[in-house]
Amino acid sequence: MQELQHYINGALVAGTSGRFSDVLNPSTGEVIARVPLATPAELDAAVQKAAVAQQAWAKVNPQRRARVMMRFGQLINDNMDKLAECLSREHGKTLPDAKGDVQRGLEVVEVCMGAPAMLKGEYTGDAGPGIDLYAMRQPLGVVAGITPFNFPAMIPLWKMAPAISAGNAMILKPSERTPMTSLMLAELFTEAGLPEGVLQVVHGDKEVVDAILDHDTIQAVGFVGSTPIAQYIYGRAATNGKRAQCFGGAKNHMIIMPDADLDMAADALVGAGYGAAGERCMAISVAVPVGKETADRLIAKLIPKIEALKVGPYTAGADVDFGPLITAASKTRVEGLIASGVEQGAKLLVDGRGLSIQGYENGFFTGASLFDDVTPDMDIYKEEIFGPVLSTVRMDSYEEALQLIIANDYGNGTAIYTADGDTARDFAARVNVGMVGINFPIPVPLSYYSFGGWKKSAFGDLNQYGPDAFKFYTKTKTVTARWFSGIKDGAALNFKAMD
Ligand code: NAD
Repeated sequence: MQELQHYINGALVAGTSGRFSDVLNPSTGEVIARVPLATPAELDAAVQKAAVAQQAWAKVNPQRRARVMMRFGQLINDNMDKLAECLSREHGKTLPDAKGDVQRGLEVVEVCMGAPAMLKGEYTGDAGPGIDLYAMRQPLGVVAGITPFNFPAMIPLWKMAPAISAGNAMILKPSERTPMTSLMLAELFTEAGLPEGVLQVVHGDKEVVDAILDHDTIQAVGFVGSTPIAQYIYGRAATNGKRAQCFGGAKNHMIIMPDADLDMAADALVGAGYGAAGERCMAISVAVPVGKETADRLIAKLIPKIEALKVGPYTAGADVDFGPLITAASKTRVEGLIASGVEQGAKLLVDGRGLSIQGYENGFFTGASLFDDVTPDMDIYKEEIFGPVLSTVRMDSYEEALQLIIANDYGNGTAIYTADGDTARDFAARVNVGMVGINFPIPVPLSYYSFGGWKKSAFGDLNQYGPDAFKFYTKTKTVTARWFSGIKDGAALNFKAMD
């Protein structure tokens, strides 16, 4: 079994804490590696070196930094198959889905190749007599990224690429459940020419996360994970005077209007509900058909499609639609929630529980499940299930459906399927959710926009990647400069400078 290491100063370094966490292959249930859990002292050593490296990195001109991003992007492309294989092995998602995970991170790296344009400042000549005014964006220093298990390439890249191309050094604390892809990415970044110490991968659990939140040198924390932890991290980071943007969980609804193309809507629900076993923060977990006829017709189309879904290990190739859940505990939790749905009166039309795959009996597989007649007071509606379970909440009108979404605590993504432009437009304008799809089930914005939810799906301001990320990872310095022709004799005690 492999013993993983931290990635410090451009090299792999063994952990010294003596504490480890198992990394599993969720398809087989086997322990494939153990990851060291860092102590605050190990974190501190990584931060000290990062602080020194950052000073030099910030002085590298933006275009040269961008060239490192170009080579990094090329290396990610060249190593796509290896990265996807590593990712599928530790996460369980299918290989095409793993490539999508890498690709959506790579697209952020591509935008960061244009970081010099994002980092330009502002200038006003002759703002007063002999006075010029300008603003520049400077890096924060050492920043931290804390990432979840479900996108082992994409989310670390969302964190490291903007932060580093803006001249910061980053401490990346990947999920201890899927840490191996981050290590591969760090090695490729070094190969691309990133100076040692600018990206430090420090593994760990709550102990090291708390040390990050309390470390005086770390200026900002970018977090992605579940809502309770996002809220906790946001609070503790802010109390310690750090910038924080903390993205949390989700419960994404899709409204299906009577005029929607129901074949298209059903396919969208199957892809967005069950892809990656539902372990996506942008998964659609609630279908909201409007009107009894729409609901009945939609359900009739969904059932055979869902029953036909193939579940299995990523090694089975094209024969598999989605893989296992991340851990045995996750499988128990998801299947427990399904049981609660039945107990609380929802109609379980497709039951994915109790799935056993020959040769993979110890894998954490659960099949696709579909509920009808779900109501907002049920646990399957209130909780983020994070599994291959789609709940149908029937509504009589568009307005009721919209109000259901507005009342929900989460606000990450949502979608509407309709042929009516006015309804779609009204929905986009009024819904209180950060990312909206119109006849589009998983509206993850492209990398030159920004990603972020509302309500309990995100704490802090500014979104991830795109222009917002460059704002988050830089601070503005504004300079008022007067040269001699503008200087008059005598002290000016009033507050007006621009006469
Ligand atoms: P998680 O909250 O369990 O873990 C996320 C990170 O926080 C990990 O690095 C973990 O080590 C750390 N952590 C866990 N418990 C902690 C604690 N008590 N104190 C300090 N740090 C702790 O999340 P997960 O299970 O890895 O990921 C799934 C969740 O992430 C889902 O809720 C999903 O919706 C959400 N997610 C959100 C987005 C988004 O952009 N909004 C994207 C992907 C995933």
